[in-house]
Amino acid sequence: MEHLPLTAAHAGGNPTLIPVGNLTIGRDFLVIAGPCAIESEEQMMQTAAAVKAAGANMLRGGVEKPRTSPYAFRGLGRQGLAYLSAAGRAVGLPVVTEVLDPRDMDWIIQSADVLQIGARNMQNFPLLVEAGRTHKPVILKRGLSSTLAEWLASAEYIMNAGNPQVMLCERGIRTFETYTRNTMDIGAIAALKQLTHLPVLADPSHGTGRAELVAPMALSAIWAGCDGMEIEVHPAPQEALSDPGQQLTPAQFQGLMGKVRQVLVWRKALENGSVYGYRTNLHNL
Ligand code: PEP
Ligand code: MN
Repeated sequence: MEHLPLTAAHAGGNPTLIPVGNLTIGRDFLVIAGPCAIESEEQMMQTAAAVKAAGANMLRGGVEKPRTSPYAFRGLGRQGLAYLSAAGRAVGLPVVTEVLDPRDMDWIIQSADVLQIGARNMQNFPLLVEAGRTHKPVILKRGLSSTLAEWLASAEYIMNAGNPQVMLCERGIRTFETYTRNTMDIGAIAALKQLTHLPVLADPSHGTGRAELVAPMALSAIWAGCDGMEIEVHPAPQEALSDPGQQLTPAQFQGLMGKVRQVLVWRKALENGSVYGYRTNLHNL
């Protein structure tokens, strides 16, 4: 792999730990949940209460959505961020949202605890540099057709600009398969745990595009060694303004969380044999 001085794991080195609220990402298993897009105050309040009760430790929601068609719902913008931040505060969860455009950085960092850079922007170098100039942790999603080396090089852009708090999120790649929205590259999670000291997350919602496949792929990602996951949850998925097919109901999410806890306990038992690059705690779930 090419020159990756900032992201590469070193033998015997420590994993990157990222404090957010009372979490230490990289040590505490992270579960981010919330809708694809922020649609209303009520939707965010309901979702926040439900995912908090089920055990999520961060709330998500898109304020500026990268849609394939310009005529699709593209998010509520600043109003959406106000709903997200109020819902997070109401239930005591830190919040994460995507920054689509470097010109939005100033107002988004005022309310978001964590920034997300989406798959379509993984190689938007000015945006990466702008995120690197902030002091906010950044979730960098894998580009739709990006190799691990390209992905890590993009993380280097953020770190090289002064921000070491980067997490990588596998969200599926484009292959010849069309049954699933994307092909979730579980192997990438296992590989990254050896290649880099950065926390590695999994997004089985975008990784599959199918609600019924989210749980099996979430659990598979845990076995592969991920440090956390991002799951789309909507109070009424069939009515969602974006990604209706892949969002879980609060009840489905609660069911998944029970299984996540169980698999984390089993995984913990294996970690002493050092199957994985680094170790994760689960005391906060
Ligand atoms: C998202 O998480 O809201 C999203 C748009 O995902 P991705 O960038 O992975 O497509
Ligand atoms: Mn989505």
